[in-house]
Amino acid sequence: MKQLNYNLSICLLVIFMIQSCVINKTKDNTEMNYTLLIHGGAGTLKRNRMTPEKELEYRGTIEEALKKGENILKNGGLAIEAVESVVKYLEDSPLFNAGKGSVFSHDGIQEMDASIMDGRDLSCGAVAGVTNLKNPIEGARIVKDSSKHVFLYGDRAQEYCISKGAKYEPSSYFFSEKRWKQYQRALKKDKIELDHDSNGDRGDIDFIESKKFGTVGCVALDSYGNLASATSTGGLTNKKYGRIGDSPIIGAGTYADNSSCAVSCTGRGEYFIRGTIARDISAILEYKQVTLKKAGELTLQKLAKIGGKGGYIAVDNMGNFIMMFNTRGMYRGVVTSNRPPVVKIYKDE
Ligand code: ASP
Repeated sequence: MKQLNYNLSICLLVIFMIQSCVINKTKDNTEMNYTLLIHGGAGTLKRNRMTPEKELEYRGTIEEALKKGENILKNGGLAIEAVESVVKYLEDSPLFNAGKGSVFSHDGIQEMDASIMDGRDLSCGAVAGVTNLKNPIEGARIVKDSSKHVFLYGDRAQEYCISKGAKYEPSSYFFSEKRWKQYQRALKKDKIELDHDSNGDRGDIDFIESKKFGTVGCVALDSYGNLASATSTGGLTNKKYGRIGDSPIIGAGTYADNSSCAVSCTGRGEYFIRGTIARDISAILEYKQVTLKKAGELTLQKLAKIGGKGGYIAVDNMGNFIMMFNTRGMYRGVVTSNRPPVVKIYKDE
């Protein structure tokens, strides 16, 4: 009898162990592992030039955006959905140079650029020079999903996106006194205000704000191992002749490939185009056995070598991530499945 009881106990123990393995496995399989990063532009961003209220506003908006993205990923959403939704949220904020907060071009209009890329199949879409799409990133997504093309520009791009459901807003929606003043100052000095380098410049907070790259971007790794990237911008204050920057250019400001990483850049677009910065980071990972950190460092060296300033956020398919820049600061934030949102602005944070 004793022996029988003993055997029964062993049996029960084995069943229990098998069950817990199954339970753990099930748990592992359904566990949501994700990483999401945001940037809101890089620049001089000196502490003594920022008011505590403004700083709080920036940090709060970035944190909200991170939470918005996390919510999608936590509930099993795809990386492509998360990046689009986060960038839309930032476009709706007047704080950043994208969507509602876009800067004025030389002709006194707001011409916006955006792109989005899905690392699953390298599908991507971009719009440039659109003036009345509430969310240019929505336009980029429409180009990706509904057109047979990758990159559309100007009024016809806008008409197409609206015909496919993108939201239209009149110019008054995008207008802000702050951006207008920045534009007037830049016009007077005949300067193309990209930003940064407020070294030596004096001025109020509005002017300081015009001295940074306020483009927004988001990269994400979802629980299924998919990567995606999205970038949106108003470009540069006082930009001329229909200028288009790196943000809508796949491989320059935006890139995502499930076999390597997802990247979104900010900085003076001309250098990012010349250096194919976003694609370089991904290509280094693809062709060489190096870490994302190493790939990011090598690319930043290249950017500096050609005189470029700015930075990028990137996440690889293992969830490793970088937020690198060669300016004094970059609005940035990260959230992962095992760590709450972190927001940073300055270099020394
Ligand atoms: N990269 C953007 C452009 O050149 C500017 C920015 O990052 O703020 O259009």
